[in-house]
Amino acid sequence: VGKCVFCDLRDKYIFYEENGIVMTVALFAYIDGNFMIIPRRHVRSIKELTTGEWETMRKMMYMAKKIIRKTHGIKGLQYVLRDGGIVAQSTVSDHLHIHCIPFDAPDLNTWNYRKLKYTPLENAQLYQQQSKTIAALSKKFEEKYDRSNQIEVNCNLLIINDQSQVLFHERPNWAKIGDDWISPPGGMVKDLSLTLEEELAREVQEETGLKLNPAKFDLIASDIERLTRYRQSDSAGTKHSYIHQFLWNIYIWRGAKIKADTALKPGDDAVKFFWVSLSEVQNHPRISPGVKAAIAKAVT
Ligand SMILES: [Zn+2]
Repeated sequence: VGKCVFCDLRDKYIFYEENGIVMTVALFAYIDGNFMIIPRRHVRSIKELTTGEWETMRKMMYMAKKIIRKTHGIKGLQYVLRDGGIVAQSTVSDHLHIHCIPFDAPDLNTWNYRKLKYTPLENAQLYQQQSKTIAALSKKFEEKYDRSNQIEVNCNLLIINDQSQVLFHERPNWAKIGDDWISPPGGMVKDLSLTLEEELAREVQEETGLKLNPAKFDLIASDIERLTRYRQSDSAGTKHSYIHQFLWNIYIWRGAKIKADTALKPGDDAVKFFWVSLSEVQNHPRISPGVKAAIAKAVT
């Protein structure tokens, strides 16, 4: 991934965030009010997006039109979706992004740059002032236009080493689920063409570098989880809670014991790894009740 500019977005330019997708003003704007919809993940093409991510982007495209009208009094909007790599698009990054460009006259079709009235920071502040409108639009979209009828599946793997310690990882803030918890390796299932165990093994390898045989994963807990999550980035100042519901499977690794000194290679979604002794798990302040219950069940 390296130093991709869209993997390293600045908070002060962001005015909305949900489900790992942000709305942030363009630093090299085509026109005043130009902003972008960008996944936090380094996704190169729409084909790599999950259903949930695409649904969120669709919602933001809906919101974009209304926000531009409210902020700038411009009814028209053009979306420019950058997909296909640096060479194909002569753009700064192959990280997928959608430009939302206020469209008020046909001369924009010739892609002339306009004389700009606002700096990127001023553009961001104008949108940040619309946080109430944005929250109302988000709610309206969910009530009227939300088409999702699928439930997401989250899988985690308990890996216990030869020192009776469980492996946990610290996620970056944007990838955290629910409270400020640490979690066992795993996450939302992205590819349902594999078995859940195969997909979990792939995810665990991506996150930790450990290559484990999915045939040796045992399902120990499976339940519908309802977590309170928050919309809106910190930079915009306000927060709105919503219920995130998903199927949560917790597996345990039943293969050969992992050595405590095994070198782990954290991937993009993991900040760091650490082992927690089984004896400390139940009193640990940063382990969720669901994970505690699963571990209690697994080791008795
Ligand atoms: Zn990137």
